[in-house]
Amino acid sequence: MENNNQSNDIRNVIIIGSGPAGYTAALYTARANLSPLLIAGSADPKTARIKGGQLMFTSDIENFPGTGHGVTGPDLMQRMEDQALHFGAEMLVEFVTSVSLCDHSGQYYTVTIESGQEFRTRSVIIATGAAARTLGIPAEDKFFGQGGGVSTCATCDGHAYRGKTVAVVGGGDSAMEEASYLARLVEKVYLVHRREEFRASKIMLKRAQDNPKIEFRLNSVIADIKGKPHPQAAAIPFFKDKEVVGAAVLQNPKTSETSELPVDGIFVAIGHTPNTDLFKNQLQMDEAGYLVHDGRMRALPSMTCGNPEMRRMEHLPGVFVAGDVSDHIYRQAITAAGMGCQAAIEAERYLAEKMADEKGVSATALDISTESIAQSHWSSERDQMGEKPMLERIVETAETCEANGAAGVEATADKAIPD
Ligand code: NAP
Repeated sequence: MENNNQSNDIRNVIIIGSGPAGYTAALYTARANLSPLLIAGSADPKTARIKGGQLMFTSDIENFPGTGHGVTGPDLMQRMEDQALHFGAEMLVEFVTSVSLCDHSGQYYTVTIESGQEFRTRSVIIATGAAARTLGIPAEDKFFGQGGGVSTCATCDGHAYRGKTVAVVGGGDSAMEEASYLARLVEKVYLVHRREEFRASKIMLKRAQDNPKIEFRLNSVIADIKGKPHPQAAAIPFFKDKEVVGAAVLQNPKTSETSELPVDGIFVAIGHTPNTDLFKNQLQMDEAGYLVHDGRMRALPSMTCGNPEMRRMEHLPGVFVAGDVSDHIYRQAITAAGMGCQAAIEAERYLAEKMADEKGVSATALDISTESIAQSHWSSERDQMGEKPMLERIVETAETCEANGAAGVEATADKAIPD
């Protein structure tokens, strides 16, 4: 039966996710003339999977080499997007709702977006990142977003709390960063942490500890949130019965003792969960839900996948992972970008081998190796040798072979190897 939502083309590569990993993969695959489609996530900043990823929620990035004395997260992501699009990547600001990795036909995978549109693709680079964790108490939902007073993003929402008092929850670098950022805007920040020890790096912890506007409340969790009438309740009928955050109910986890801390806003900065729901029962994950790869960014099949043929595979053909979705250790913009580059080069190699096979061109003679493809991305090298992306070289070789007769395949391919 005809599927009107399905595009007839089979794409070379679809990249899911638009953080540093996704944009870097898009840049590399675009420069390799693979015409990548990047499916970027949502345009709505209230959703976890916003276009641009977690760095859209970050203020100053001081450790991305080449950005001078610092750059804001949104600015860096805009630059990455512009560069990827400039070199020919196509982008869709949409959510992916399903990916058929478990029923690979040997030819293509199917990626479906929220509108119902389906894309077929020979390879997929998964760069869906991770999302901010929340406290999981009922009151959190009541006050989350839309000016209610609970947020996971100081850079998005902090401006609304100028001159006010806020709490930041967590003991890691994110919490220290959020607290230090908010201290520039608000009157007072309470740093609420459930232990006395910190995961935060010494430098970021010290910066927060030395800030006179930040007061630490240790051995404390937020057990509940009390509301107060919305500040516009009297003036605007819509807000008449609405409440905003009025106080955090703190509880000592050791003694269960509780106390009330009057605050106008609560910023939750307690870590992240990888965005891997789409790949459950399809791809292998670790205990925390991060995707596992084989060291060359190739995704491994899940042992719970319903397809026994797939379960026997060492890795899934043409499926690659990159960035925070598969990294719970480094989780830096620069490491995610590096993984995006690796995944793109591996995808290029996979596609080149597949095409060489289809066209009867010898992969060995053309040197379709990761090293060779990586080298072809060195800009100066490429210019000096007048070298073309691998897929173009395969097509040209196959055409020349056809013109010379089938016997010329190996010989023509040999000539295509640069000295
Ligand atoms: P993290 O290091 O995992 O810290 C999470 C914190 O939240 C921990 O202190 C944890 O407490 C606390 N926590 C977790 N669940 C909680 C709950 N339900 N209730 C209360 N507290 C809870 O996460 P992160 O701070 O987001 O950092 C993640 C990674 O990104 C780190 O590698 C970090 O260095 C990096 N990062 C770097 C920068 C930067 O360089 N500019 C900025 C942000 C993040 P426990 O300690 O008790 O478990």
